[in-house]
Amino acid sequence: MSENTLFQKIIAREIPAAILYEDESCIAFTDINPQAPLHALVVPIKPIPKIIDATAADEPLLGHLMAVAAQIAREAGYGDGFRLVINNGADAGQTVFHVHIHVLAGRLLQWPPG
Ligand code: 5GP
Repeated sequence: MSENTLFQKIIAREIPAAILYEDESCIAFTDINPQAPLHALVVPIKPIPKIIDATAADEPLLGHLMAVAAQIAREAGYGDGFRLVINNGADAGQTVFHVHIHVLAGRLLQWPPG
């Protein structure tokens, strides 16, 4: 039996997190190591390991995650400037293998990212 991901443990309240939003298909909480004044993670309840693993059936869910991410930025007062990031795979910096969208805002965000 595969072990639950870190984010499943947060969903199950086995690990504490500052939860910003939750519904039947996703949860959003503050990143433990924030890279900007707003750094939230939007995570589907469904434990898709990487965005490359998502299927056509997941498309409505992925769209919902984007909408929730934008809503979090808007409600935090950053509707005019925020960035959404998905790291796919270790080479892209993914460390938690449960799909998530980073929502970053509140400082000048450089381009290109590192
Ligand atoms: P990744 O590197 O996979 O794209 O992003 C994983 C994120 O999860 C990192 O930004 C990291 O700081 C965050 N993270 C790791 N462990 C925890 C934790 O226990 N709680 C919270 N809230 N965030 C975490």
